[in-house]
Amino acid sequence: MHILLTNDDGVTAPGLLALKQALEPLGRLTVVAPSRNYSAAGHRKTMHKPLRLDVGQLLDGSPAWLCSGAPSDCVALALLGFIPDKIDLVVSGINPHYNLGQDVTYSGTVTAAIEAVIAGVPGMAVSTEAGDPPRYEAAASIAARLVTMIAERGLPPDSLLNVNAPQTIKGLRVTRQGLRVYRDQLVERRDPRGKPYYWIGGEMPTGRADEGTDFWALEHDYVSVTPLQLDLTAYRLMPELEAWIAADL
Ligand code: MN
Repeated sequence: MHILLTNDDGVTAPGLLALKQALEPLGRLTVVAPSRNYSAAGHRKTMHKPLRLDVGQLLDGSPAWLCSGAPSDCVALALLGFIPDKIDLVVSGINPHYNLGQDVTYSGTVTAAIEAVIAGVPGMAVSTEAGDPPRYEAAASIAARLVTMIAERGLPPDSLLNVNAPQTIKGLRVTRQGLRVYRDQLVERRDPRGKPYYWIGGEMPTGRADEGTDFWALEHDYVSVTPLQLDLTAYRLMPELEAWIAADL
């Protein structure tokens, strides 16, 4: 099996090294990762400026491709042919913070796996709450277990796994996406010429730990494994919209 590794924290992130070391026994690995931190860069496709790929290395000196683009650009370039050999799976991470609920739309970690699925390759995103000093061993061993399962069984097209692993693990739970509660605040400052500029500030987000959700699993020391699909259609709203349109005729 040939696995493409990437992340959104940049090629020198310890989480990427931990992922590489855990997956090394499972197949051939190729790393294409951003040259800088692209956390919360979302699902980006860089189309209006050139992308560069340079020879680089992970923290342990092992080879990696350094990409000037976002995580989704890394995956796109690799799968479009920069990596000539067939890639069987894309794994992204390990992010040092959880990606839960609506985070998945902001997360460079998750959108790298989404880009893989768009290109027809199975994808998995792995995150943990690494702490200080950062610890990735638990999440890395879970990643290896899940990669083995994907290798044996495959993933259906249009779907990916969003994996979030706590530090103490009671087991694995298949979960649904929960609800993040963001506590963002607009912070206005003045530059030296008196012009205002803005930060998205505020407190760290929380989340609703409804049973069966990703938040619930982590609150109970389970690894949260959420299957995600790219079809965002709100099916429940379709009949209602049909009724609106019929009534408007
Ligand atoms: Mn990140």
